[in-house]
Amino acid sequence: MNLCQFPRRRYTVGITPVEKLERLSALVGSPTLYCKRDDLLGLAGGGNKTRKLEFLMADALAKGADTIITCGAIQSNHCRLTLAAANKEGLFCQLVLEQRVPNSYDSLASGNNFLFNLLGVEAVHVVDGGSNLKEKMDTVANALRAQGRKPYIIPGGGSNAIGALGYVACAQELLQQLFEMELNIDAIVCTSGSAGTHAGLLTGIVASNAHIPVIGICINRKKEEQSQAVYDLCNQLALKLNLKEGPAYDDIIVFEEYIGEGYSRVTEDMLEAVKLVARTEAILLDPVYTGKTMAGLLDLQRKGYFNQMQNILFLHTGGSPALFAYTGYFFDK
Ligand SMILES: *Cc1c(COP(=O)(O)O)cnc(C)c1O
Repeated sequence: MNLCQFPRRRYTVGITPVEKLERLSALVGSPTLYCKRDDLLGLAGGGNKTRKLEFLMADALAKGADTIITCGAIQSNHCRLTLAAANKEGLFCQLVLEQRVPNSYDSLASGNNFLFNLLGVEAVHVVDGGSNLKEKMDTVANALRAQGRKPYIIPGGGSNAIGALGYVACAQELLQQLFEMELNIDAIVCTSGSAGTHAGLLTGIVASNAHIPVIGICINRKKEEQSQAVYDLCNQLALKLNLKEGPAYDDIIVFEEYIGEGYSRVTEDMLEAVKLVARTEAILLDPVYTGKTMAGLLDLQRKGYFNQMQNILFLHTGGSPALFAYTGYFFDK
């Protein structure tokens, strides 16, 4: 693979650390847990969308855009980081926010919503759950074009073949880093949401012939639907990267058991996992993605899924600003 052929902006100095989770591992027993700290990526508050935006913003700039339009849930980390990247590039940013839980939008809410305001979003367009977000973004873009502006639309989660290149690059970074650490990892556990992270990472691992399973913990969709979304994006990436062979459908591992009542809905296991990791490792997970993913990892460990393995790597994709929209659930009563 030659990722240099794709224009890229840089938003992180250096690479993100891989840390051994000493105290959590001691509690869990085996295998030993490691964490790739993508919560420490650049842009306001960091997180996985920063890697995707390096390629997406470069594409927007190449196309002469003056305004970025994207969409997400009302506490979207992706929207926060897209707005942050637009600020860095001196572009305007408008957000289409989907109220996936009815009546849940509060313009004065904390967490990422507060940061939309602080970072100076140009406009927020709130739509009901289940709305056609692409259509709404097209409408916003057309209105801007009519004023002579140049909008660029980034899909939800930044998960198209351009954005997912960020996680192909992450796979390269990680493999080199593990080599230098002399650390042999048996499996990677990540969140599988809009699928760019899972698909990019898996494509990068497969294209390197590294044979490390990538286990996706799903936070919004059923296993079959999610696997198909990951597979479709892997195929687009394989084409873009000119790979002889991309990931096979059988390479895609998805668990749907940790979603609870739905996207962004609190589960007991998530609350436990977020507290445990904060209190053992002083690492802040988030309620919507990484908290549920860690809950999944710990449950799979208890069930013996990793029994033959020595070292597991948890990909921390960020999201801790959203904790501040959920404080009521975390105070010990
Ligand atoms: C968006 C997001 C994810 C999911 O990544 P996808 O590429 O959308 O699958 C995981 N964790 C956090 C904190 C996120 O914001």
